[in-house]
Amino acid sequence: MCIFCQIISKEVESEIVFENDDIIAFKDLYPKAKHHLLIVPKKHIDTIKDLNENEADEELVGKMVLVARNLAKDLELEGYQLLFNVGKSAGQVIFHIHLHLMSNG
Ligand code: 5GP
Ligand code: ZN
Repeated sequence: MCIFCQIISKEVESEIVFENDDIIAFKDLYPKAKHHLLIVPKKHIDTIKDLNENEADEELVGKMVLVARNLAKDLELEGYQLLFNVGKSAGQVIFHIHLHLMSNG
């Protein structure tokens, strides 16, 4: 099981900031900004490349972006970055889709 699946199943600890049936969000263990959260679908998908052209995956990615927006709003962030690393050469290390939310305020 991948590390994010283990976080989802609570076998591995993390600082969870949001959770619903589809999505979990937690603090990045090695933050690269003052605020660095990871928004992760509970369904294991390796990379953005593996998304299907169907409504379920469209909805899932849409929900990830909206969760990120809502968390940023809760934190009263004025500006922030939303980032998907896709593939090893682009810096993807964990092969379970995740959206980085990063901000210094
Ligand atoms: P990637 O480079 O794959 O887009 O991002 C993976 C992110 O996961 C990195 O920013 C890294 O710091 C974070 N990370 C790696 N292992 C763990 C972990 O066990 N717990 C948490 N909370 N974050 C992790
Ligand atoms: Zn996984």
